Parts: sequence; structure tokens; C-alpha cells
Amino acid sequence: MESVLVLNATYEPLSVVSVRRAVLLLLKEKAEIVEASEAELRSEHVSIPMPLVIRLVYYVRIPHRLSLPVTRRTVLARDHYTCQYCGRQPPRKDLTVDHILPRSRGGHTAWENVVTACQRCNGRKGNQTPEEAGMSLLSPPVRPRYVALTLIEGGETRHVWDKYMF
Ligand SMILES: [Zn+2]
Repeated sequence: MESVLVLNATYEPLSVVSVRRAVLLLLKEKAEIVEASEAELRSEHVSIPMPLVIRLVYYVRIPHRLSLPVTRRTVLARDHYTCQYCGRQPPRKDLTVDHILPRSRGGHTAWENVVTACQRCNGRKGNQTPEEAGMSLLSPPVRPRYVALTLIEGGETRHVWDKYMF
């Protein structure tokens, strides 16, 4: 089943729904199409482009942030399988999770203290902070947003969604 990214009225990612659910929201005028594919969905009465990203007309308040475990899988997905020091994308098996402040020096396994690193950068950094190693991060690590979590957990991602998600 194809899935559709739902954005809040503010264009923040909100959730992922089935095409069927997205079409219902569109037909009820609760949402509008932001991105669509070339394909068309036809029924007796209507013909609409196949939605890829839709946006709710009304703002939905998000009451809380989900907590997602920090694991090798989720960290690598958050960082797009890219070494956060040198920007390279080696095969996934060659990527490691680096603690920015090393664990041996009290660094926690938290979203803000872990990044994806290639073996070479991780080896070079060793038991130092990035400053001590003379290395810098491509971007400061953050806790992923809601929809990113959904996708990481479901293992699914669509390229067209990227600019709304990260
Ligand atoms: Zn690297």
C-alpha cells in the first residue's frame, strides 16, 4: 500500500497515512495536495492526482513528543547514513555510532550526544571531544521530529518527503 505524508497547516510533518485515507481527507476538503505524482486516481465522479504529500487545512495541536530509543538503526537513519564528520556515505555496515562526548568521559547515549561516523573518523576521534580532535560536525545532532520517528520505525521513506521531514 502506498502511503502519503501529512503536513500540519504550518507545513510541519504530522503523520503518514494510506492513500485511501489521504483521498478521504482531500474529498472532505480537510486537506489539500502539496505534492502529487503523475498518476491519477479515478472514480465515477472524480479524478485526482495521486497524492504524495498533503497538508491539513486546519492546524492540529501536537500534545507531546514521542520518545524514540536511541539505537544504531535510528541514529543512522536520522543522519541519512552519512558520516557527520566527513560527509561520506560508506556502506551501512561500515558506519558506527559515535558519542560526541565519549562514554568513558561521562557522555550519555542521548539524541544530542550521538552521531553517525565512518570508521575512519571514529578512529581518528578516539577518546576525544570533536574540539580536541580538531574535527567539526556537519550539523548539531537533534532529536528527530515526530514523522521522522514514524518512518524510521516503519522502515519506510520516500524521497519526495525529505524536504518536509528533516
Ligand atoms: Zn567520516
